[in-house]
Amino acid sequence: MVDFSLTKEQLELQRKAREFAQEYMIPYAHYYDKTGEFPLPIIKKCWEAGLMNLGIPKEYGGPGLGVLEQCIVVEEMAAGCAGMTTSIYVNTLGAEPILVAGNKEQKEKYLQPLTEDLKFVSFACSEPGMGSDVAGIQTRVKKEGSHYVLNGSKFWITNAPHADYFTVFASLDPSQRHKALCAFIVDADTPGVKTGRPVEKMGHKASTTSSVVFRNAKIPEENLLGSEGKGFPVAMKTFSMTRPAIAAFSTGLARAAMEYAREYVNKREAFTQKLREFEVIQFKLAEMFMKIEASRALYLKAALATDTEEDSTVPASVAKAFATDAAMEIASEAVQIHGGYGYIDQYPLEKLFRDAKLYQIYEGTSEIQRLILGRHVLKDYEPAMKELPKWVNMKPPDF
Ligand SMILES: Cc1cc2nc3c(=O)[nH]c(=O)nc-3n(C[C@H](O)[C@H](O)[C@H](O)COP(=O)(O)OP(=O)(O)OC[C@H]3O[C@@H](n4cnc5c(N)ncnc54)[C@H](O)[C@@H]3O)c2cc1C
Repeated sequence: MVDFSLTKEQLELQRKAREFAQEYMIPYAHYYDKTGEFPLPIIKKCWEAGLMNLGIPKEYGGPGLGVLEQCIVVEEMAAGCAGMTTSIYVNTLGAEPILVAGNKEQKEKYLQPLTEDLKFVSFACSEPGMGSDVAGIQTRVKKEGSHYVLNGSKFWITNAPHADYFTVFASLDPSQRHKALCAFIVDADTPGVKTGRPVEKMGHKASTTSSVVFRNAKIPEENLLGSEGKGFPVAMKTFSMTRPAIAAFSTGLARAAMEYAREYVNKREAFTQKLREFEVIQFKLAEMFMKIEASRALYLKAALATDTEEDSTVPASVAKAFATDAAMEIASEAVQIHGGYGYIDQYPLEKLFRDAKLYQIYEGTSEIQRLILGRHVLKDYEPAMKELPKWVNMKPPDF
């Protein structure tokens, strides 16, 4: 059965997240965008409202919600402020490798505290020299007695300066590429672990991004996630779990851009008419609406697959690639509809435009999603037509 309706509980969660975004995010989004301050008071409120760390299972103190519910919440919050939502959601990304590959002790020690107090976890995979090519990780790890020793640098790590711990990907031997990757939990106060200064970004100013450097950082062997050499599938599975949410982020941002544009065309006049009277403007709004509806349908499908199927790589990539491109196009058109006012910071559009760009980059770029999907079409995709009928020279049969 195909059913896009939300349950009573899901609708209630959506209402709660929408109200949170309207009360605590939108009124302060401009301030945090201008100052680049970390929006700690907002994140604290979000944690207190029970809208953070949603995927942590009940047995570890969390609400144990599925990816579908997380996406519903994320769409609402990203319509409020993309940067704040990234700061909030990155705990889910950081904790995911533990959910994917952690044992009971690791889950108790590292997931439970996220539900008892406001704590931060960051996902440390990308490096100064690689992002897309996860198998190309250069951070080195070596076993020494009952410890692993980490050396190397991570870059672009969201919330790093605030993190209580990191999930880190490192290699036993970079020449062995994906076969040598390992995943670890690394406490931020481990000697030899240092975070860098936040980098200045185009958008998502309310999220902090910095490097993390490991210099002979000794990690207890019990902090290895899964087994040695199995870090690559942990990273890939993590992305399959979290990419539907990036599509939901994009849907929320795009929806906000369309709603601001809708309001503007009802007020602004040109050539003695309201902008809304011009068919070209109506067509732009129609395009926005179609893409938002399609993005939402795709993230719901991907989230459902993530919650129910063994491998949701393909629907997750479809949703991420489509919705992130759509958000960028919609944000751009919403700026256009606002004319000059779309280009200045007295209206929200220029922020939405800057914020949208990141969705096409992080958690696997738009090109990487297409790489995954192109390979799928050529390799695993099962054609509906097993044998393609001959196209020419067929005489109609005598039915
Ligand atoms: C604000 C921000 C926050 C981030 N947060 C995190 C985080 O918390 N944790 C983390 O680990 N990472 C994080 N990242 C890193 C992010 O995931 C990477 O930037 C992203 O994966 C791209 O990697 P790259 O920047 O090294 O680009 P590259 O991999 O060098 O790619 C450069 C360009 O080449 C294209 N390209 C690369 N390979 C191919 C190919 N095979 N075929 C076609 N095109 C290709 C890419 O699509 C891109 O357009 C963050 C990045 C930003 C900007």
